[in-house]
Amino acid sequence: MPAPPRKFVAGNWKMNGRKAALAELEAIIAGLSGEVNGPRVAVFPSATLVAAAVETASGSAVEIGGQDCSAETEGAHTGDVAAEQLADAGARLVILGHSERRTDHGEGDAAVRAKVLAALRGGLEPIICIGETLEQRQGGLTLAVVEGQLNGSVPSELAGRAFSIAYEPVWAIGTGLTPTVAEVEEVHAAIRRFLDARFPGDAVAVLYGGSVKASNAAELMAAEGVDGALVGGASLKADDFLPIVRAAA
Ligand code: PEP
Repeated sequence: MPAPPRKFVAGNWKMNGRKAALAELEAIIAGLSGEVNGPRVAVFPSATLVAAAVETASGSAVEIGGQDCSAETEGAHTGDVAAEQLADAGARLVILGHSERRTDHGEGDAAVRAKVLAALRGGLEPIICIGETLEQRQGGLTLAVVEGQLNGSVPSELAGRAFSIAYEPVWAIGTGLTPTVAEVEEVHAAIRRFLDARFPGDAVAVLYGGSVKASNAAELMAAEGVDGALVGGASLKADDFLPIVRAAA
């Protein structure tokens, strides 16, 4: 099954933004109002801002998601947030397996997989992140790493459910470095082969993430097999994010 008909641009605010940042969300919404046939757009603020962001985005086409969720439903898990809680706050989506979670919190594929199942249980649409380190790329291991992450993090229970995969080379996140278009296309083709084999018939978007900005968005979004972008730093300001959304249209 081919990719979804519309491109998908997701903005990951990471651990940035206080209530005042909602003005940027308002500006994103205002900048997109009246645009038809544009890409699907979602913003992922910190958990503290999810409910307010949902309210700000209410009535607009911009969707709101969380940046992570627990594998558990509730209970003695201090500091964690359940998928059900994010959904209760109005979130529709959740980013899982981001490399900053994998590195900072030691989340391996099994943990990511458990969180994906939790997201499904809680009614959230997951974006599952995968990607190789610089050392792995230089060692010629990129496809093996990505395929291993797909096999380990992407449960078969996703069949028939809405989800996306984000290919985010770890060395490209927040560094200003990006792979060549050919490198992106090679990995996206491998991801698509995996999806075709494991989820035939499901329209799953494969996003690219890692230092996407206004100046490189058009080239990256036009790459074969790229169905959209997961954007970090450049999603924090409407003036930076809107040109990326438009480049994806
Ligand atoms: C990200 O956080 O997923 C990301 C890709 O960050 P940046 O765009 O800042 O590289």
